Amino acid sequence: MSDARNPDDTDDTDDVRQEATVDDEAFEPVAVFGESEEMDLRPGSDDCYKCSTCDTACPVAEVDDEFPGPKFQGPEQWRLKRKGDHDIDESVMSCSNCMRCDDACPSDVPLSQMHNTARGEYVKNGMSRLSREYVRNRMLANYRTLARLGSTVPRLTNFLMGNSVVQTLNEKLLGITSEREFPEFAEETFREWWESRGGANVESDDKRVAYFHGCYANYNTPAVGKAAVRVFESFGYEVLVPPQRCSGTPMFANGMLDDAERAAEVNVEELAAAIEDGADIIASCTSCSMSLRQEYPELFDFEGTASVAARTYEAVEYLRLFEDLDGALEDSEIEGQEFAYHAPCHARNQGIAGQAVELLDRLDGASAEDVGPSCSGISGTYGWKQEKYDTSMAIGAEMFEHMEDADAETGLTECPTCAMQMEHGTGYEVRHPLEVLEAALVE
Ligand code: SF4
Ligand code: SF4
Repeated sequence: MSDARNPDDTDDTDDVRQEATVDDEAFEPVAVFGESEEMDLRPGSDDCYKCSTCDTACPVAEVDDEFPGPKFQGPEQWRLKRKGDHDIDESVMSCSNCMRCDDACPSDVPLSQMHNTARGEYVKNGMSRLSREYVRNRMLANYRTLARLGSTVPRLTNFLMGNSVVQTLNEKLLGITSEREFPEFAEETFREWWESRGGANVESDDKRVAYFHGCYANYNTPAVGKAAVRVFESFGYEVLVPPQRCSGTPMFANGMLDDAERAAEVNVEELAAAIEDGADIIASCTSCSMSLRQEYPELFDFEGTASVAARTYEAVEYLRLFEDLDGALEDSEIEGQEFAYHAPCHARNQGIAGQAVELLDRLDGASAEDVGPSCSGISGTYGWKQEKYDTSMAIGAEMFEHMEDADAETGLTECPTCAMQMEHGTGYEVRHPLEVLEAALVE
């Protein structure tokens, strides 16, 4: 993400807040693979000078010789498309949407915007609605729908999804790998907890954040959402929890752009209203913050999209920018804990890959070792697909090895699906940095 703010680069919070007030008119989404050739004028695509840096950075291309890589998926298909009839190649479905190529390109070619648009076109025009792949991908992309249903009877759902017969059927009928254990649903969702608690414990006109919890912290790991609320309240913030849908991340990755657009419209409307109420937006999942900050303005132009993008932060990043989080941690301690930290690809794109390790260095009793720059390999729904499982594990192998070499037996990451992969590959328990901050800072 080219214009993401790095906490290390910023020491004037007022400037950051002023920058964050962006006029919606400034964003001009462009149809990269538009219906009309006249519309198909993405100047950034012509900036590709074929250096292949993006291909070198692509974790899928590194382990899968059949995958042509990001340069082909983006600028080259675009050029073919401009020259004449060209159907989007099905290999675009093998891109995991890790977005590492975006970060790698020295020429700011809008690779992930091109991939998302091309994938949407491939699914619309090249994939049968009756195919097993389409049905499976639509289900995975709409995890929130499944989770809402499953979490109404969490014990029964957890029992069924943990049953090996059900797992085998899922694989045979739907192509969802039986190698992974389905994540358990919480007995009380984050939103149920929030409601039974009576909402915010702190009221403030000056310090207000709207929490975008996403699907996973709501249905599977409400402890992360509770930690976010308690940590922000400990700094005097009033926390709002607006109505929200899926951020769209799994929908983009599966080319379900109509589903993503419907979800994004609701999210933008609700989050823009929270901004009107004086709140900034915080997210605990780095893929959710990535969606709101980068993918929404690249693909949609609802009123308020630009403001939401400009006022969204990853939760810990926000505290580093606007509070003395380092100082608060220097005055705190926790009982000895050592973590093996993996930075999600989407955290790298937002310039916040190093922050958890730096922060825990300041906290007595805690230490975190960065397990290196490799991709975890799961990329949301990608590693759940039967035919992608081996690729996913081959990509993750370097991270597993470095975790095992680290002087720690607990993992640490901001991304819920990276956490799944870390647990799956090593058997380690994995925590979110907000949970560590809660243990250190909240009475
Ligand atoms: S890194 Fe950028 S400029 Fe280089 S080949 Fe890839 S898209 Fe083109
Ligand atoms: S998003 Fe990731 S998997 Fe897809 S082309 Fe770019 S680097 Fe490769």
